[in-house]
Amino acid sequence: MFDSLSDRLGGVFDKLRGRGALKEQDVRDAMREVRIALLEADVALPVVRRFIDQVTEKAIGQSVLRSVTPGQQVVKIVNDALIEMLGGEEGQGGQAAELDLNAAPPVVIMMVGLQGSGKTTSTAKIARLLREKQGKKVLMASLDVNRPAAQEQLRVLGEQVGVATLPIIAGQQPTEIATRAMQSARLQAVDVLMLDTAGRLHVDQQLMDEMKAVAAIATPRETLLVVDSLTGQDAVNVAQSFSGEVDLTGVVLTRMDGDARGGAALSMRAVTGKPIKFAGTGEKMEALEVFHPSRVANRILGMGDIVSIVEKAAEAVKIEDAEALAKRMEQGKFDMNDLRMQLGQMQKMGGLGALAGMMPGMKKAKAAMQASGMDDRVLLRMDAIIGSMTQKERVNPALLNAKRKIRVANGSGTNVQDVNKLLKMHQEMSKAMKQIKKMGGLKGLAAMFG
Ligand code: GDP
Ligand code: MG
Repeated sequence: MFDSLSDRLGGVFDKLRGRGALKEQDVRDAMREVRIALLEADVALPVVRRFIDQVTEKAIGQSVLRSVTPGQQVVKIVNDALIEMLGGEEGQGGQAAELDLNAAPPVVIMMVGLQGSGKTTSTAKIARLLREKQGKKVLMASLDVNRPAAQEQLRVLGEQVGVATLPIIAGQQPTEIATRAMQSARLQAVDVLMLDTAGRLHVDQQLMDEMKAVAAIATPRETLLVVDSLTGQDAVNVAQSFSGEVDLTGVVLTRMDGDARGGAALSMRAVTGKPIKFAGTGEKMEALEVFHPSRVANRILGMGDIVSIVEKAAEAVKIEDAEALAKRMEQGKFDMNDLRMQLGQMQKMGGLGALAGMMPGMKKAKAAMQASGMDDRVLLRMDAIIGSMTQKERVNPALLNAKRKIRVANGSGTNVQDVNKLLKMHQEMSKAMKQIKKMGGLKGLAAMFG
């Protein structure tokens, strides 16, 4: 069994207990333990190094939430970075990566990887999913002429999941089978053609050449690298070799039902830069899951409890912030920092739609927002613009003359027009705040509507 990271971090955490910003030495101490946890989860060494460097830099100086220890805060930062690197949290911009089937049929999905990685099994699992969940007409073809029973194996699985397989003709080469599969798929008006290629025990040039020749014939929309998650450290070499030879579009991680702590997921993502689309979780045909970054991050780090403690603390701070903002609004104060906080909250609440009608006296501000074509991307752009302002400019936007506007536009990757739109919106919102004040503050408003 693995020692839980929190056990081992215990000592470090005690030392870390304190207030204020995370100090460099404290972060480095905690990171040494995180490093061990990642290595134990079988994340490849070069990937661990890069990850630790990135996160250390990010963590130093970050403020520690009230009611949370610095150590807990570091864990949360590490966890968030892990999720980010694994593809992002569902529902927060990131989502489960789906297969791209946007091409003229037959859309080809080519499965590549080493022998025994789970290519044939995954081919049939994905075919089943496409047929049952998306109503696709699927054809599968095995191009594995190295292993005697390989083509027969796919045929049997095809029968199990109710998906057609290309009839086997003895003596054909992979490229001949690929050509025949394409013809057959066109004739039968197949939606998706799945090509299960041959693997070797080790990467070799003949395997790569064969794969490239097949890709040239079938022009696959998806080329999925199948990797055994138990391969651990070796997974990186495999991924590097394959991504150097073909344009991978995604990864399938198999044997996630086993003892693997999921470290291979992080390695794959780091080396190929491609999304992990599925996780195999058993030998049965139903044992295929869409890949969930947050679950796997938790599995790698094994610190879900601490993460939720910090999340709850962050929630409490957000409520305090909102109360502070309300107080400022009552006093008729509303600078760029307030606007930024407001934008951030709007984004979390589901964008502009959620704001509609929530506040009286905001009609003009809303109109200005809508005129600027506000959607979530615009929210992010506005955040970047305010981020490029100095503190003085944020508190006193009137300072923003033409020259400063250009600097802010450049700094935020926008243009002066965007900066002007934001300033206009801020003006409208400030006016609304002042009106609220005239009407006797929020309490007065509440009384009017009460
Ligand atoms: P290929 O050589 O890459 O085509 O690999 P196969 O698809 O033939 O799989 C090799 C073995 O691994 C078979 O016994 C499969 O049942 C098994 N296998 C494949 N995927 C998984 C998985 O996600 N979990 C488990 N436990 N076994 C798997
Ligand atoms: Mg096979």
